[in-house]
Amino acid sequence: MADNEKQPERKTLDERNKMTELERIRHSAAHVLATAILRIWPEAQFAAGPPVENGFYYDLELPHRISPEDFEKIEAEMKKEVKANNTFEKIVVTREQAIKDAESGRLGGLTERLGNPSKFKLGNLADIPEGEQITYFKNGDFMDLCAGPHVMRTGNIGAFKLTTVASAYYKGDEKNPQLQRIYGTAFKNKTEMEAYFTMLEEAKRRDHRKIGAEMGLFAMDPDYTGPGMPLWLPKGTAIVEELEKLAKETEFAAGYVRVKTPHLAKEKMYITSGHLPYYAESMFPPIELLEEEEKKRKAAIHTKMAILEELMDKTDPGSNQSLDLTAQDDQLITELKNLGTRYYLKAMNCPHHHRIFAAEPKSYRDLPLRLAEYGACYRYEQSGELFGLMRVRTLNMNDAHIYCTEEQFSQEFNAVNEMYLKYFKIFGIDKYVMRFSTHSAEGLGKKYVNEPELWKKTEDMVRKVLIDSKINYVEVPNEAAFYGPKIDVQVWSVIGREFTLATNQVDFAVPAKFGLVYKDRDNTEKTPLCIHRAPLGTHERFIGFLIEHYAGNFPLWLAPEQVRVLTIGDEEPLVNYAKAIVSELRANMVRCEGDFTTNKINGKIQEAEKAKVHTMLVIGGRDMDAGNVSVRLHGKGNVGAKPKGEVVADILAAIKERRA
Ligand SMILES: [Zn+2]
Ligand SMILES: [Zn+2]
Repeated sequence: MADNEKQPERKTLDERNKMTELERIRHSAAHVLATAILRIWPEAQFAAGPPVENGFYYDLELPHRISPEDFEKIEAEMKKEVKANNTFEKIVVTREQAIKDAESGRLGGLTERLGNPSKFKLGNLADIPEGEQITYFKNGDFMDLCAGPHVMRTGNIGAFKLTTVASAYYKGDEKNPQLQRIYGTAFKNKTEMEAYFTMLEEAKRRDHRKIGAEMGLFAMDPDYTGPGMPLWLPKGTAIVEELEKLAKETEFAAGYVRVKTPHLAKEKMYITSGHLPYYAESMFPPIELLEEEEKKRKAAIHTKMAILEELMDKTDPGSNQSLDLTAQDDQLITELKNLGTRYYLKAMNCPHHHRIFAAEPKSYRDLPLRLAEYGACYRYEQSGELFGLMRVRTLNMNDAHIYCTEEQFSQEFNAVNEMYLKYFKIFGIDKYVMRFSTHSAEGLGKKYVNEPELWKKTEDMVRKVLIDSKINYVEVPNEAAFYGPKIDVQVWSVIGREFTLATNQVDFAVPAKFGLVYKDRDNTEKTPLCIHRAPLGTHERFIGFLIEHYAGNFPLWLAPEQVRVLTIGDEEPLVNYAKAIVSELRANMVRCEGDFTTNKINGKIQEAEKAKVHTMLVIGGRDMDAGNVSVRLHGKGNVGAKPKGEVVADILAAIKERRA
């Protein structure tokens, strides 16, 4: 496994202080890993050993190529160090002392190692700014250059495991030596670690790419449609349309109106919105063309230029007349260069919605205006970043923009939160958190639009709604968007894996850039606030999440094939009875199929189970004579025979209520 991801930049002291308990445990485990490796290979030279998402690593140089076969041996040494329960002792030193210790091979070592200086630690030392305290942390004999923080003792590392080996360049620079990177993970205790590995196993089993292919939900076709552009197959489209139906019904009830916008727009749109040039890398390159008028203009310019050239040939070079002709020619060249219109595929729907707001004059009576659209967006993600449905280049977003006055803001924002909670309930999402990202005063005018009053006001409003509604949230300073505070919604699937579902944003700057105004009661023109929200995120990401969440066993209302009618045998009256049931259900928009072949009923059931059909209606001669059907549920088995009318009514009700 090659792993040349950029090494994270050196953490600031502030970032270090914010390290969570789990991160401290994991970083401390990296020290313990180094201790263990040195006991086996005393010549090892260590570089950096930070905590990372889900674990930690330590980079080292060693002639022996470490492989997973070595893990048991290394882990045994780690266990001894944890059992020894050594304290992480902090030692403050001068730079001179640190250089001396590095040169003697003592840093990142168990002893001094003459002739084997701690070369990477010397390099790390050079990165510590002048004036910053230089510290070592020592556990047992292992002494490392490190700013911390750690747990108190090695015994606080409750459980750990080495996971993989990769290679990485020192400081992430390919001009530097290539090192071995040993990855591991650590937890407070064994139970938590076991739960984590069980979850990983389960996530592998529920991988949306695997289940998506097995169920025929979507296909990737990099050669023809392009990488990162999923094709929704009929069964996947059924889910897409159910989600859109849910969104449309919910939004309609909440007073939204629907709009439709083109998939591309002129450059001016994105310059105004601020996407260009800052976001250009994430957009597809422009389509450049000459509009009809421009084509005519181009021909006219060429004619003029030909005339000019003829005149120039006849004039004395250097004469006033010649200079004048050259100037005219230059002007035409410039004009020619400026011809052409650039269109961009839209990376976001907001600017289009802003233009819809601007399309007709608005008064305070029109607000709040909630414009909704399942909008298609196109983003140029790096090909290395593409991943199944999770990272794609075409996305269909459950988008809406709410334009409101300041007085209306709290109520509108609260209603958006309520909508999230409603959706969470429908999908059985029990664990979520809203990450509320705010600005920082230092970033004003740089990272954030320079409107200190507006920042304070909107952040206070958002915070108040979050607190009043008792919604589960955390506040993250200095991570807001350029134009206003944002809220990232994180949810956990039923097996405990985290997904970022959607982002809500409060925008108090862009409406002004687009010149959006409404006439207030006092006849003055005011700029509305804008709330961007997308509770169901994009179809791609959300369905990716749902596949894992349900392991493909969708509830009836979402199941691609909701009902299959299976006959025991193929006698004509029986098949006719079954066909009538299929027709009745299909007339009610139920995705129902029939299997009337002569195959054995057990085989038919097996096939339906394999296709994850939610409800199987099994019909034999006796059922028909009694006007009954036998109901079987996917994964649950036979639930008994019931009168046909009752079964149909129940299916329709379960779909309508979107029962879990
Ligand atoms: Zn450390
Ligand atoms: Zn938006």
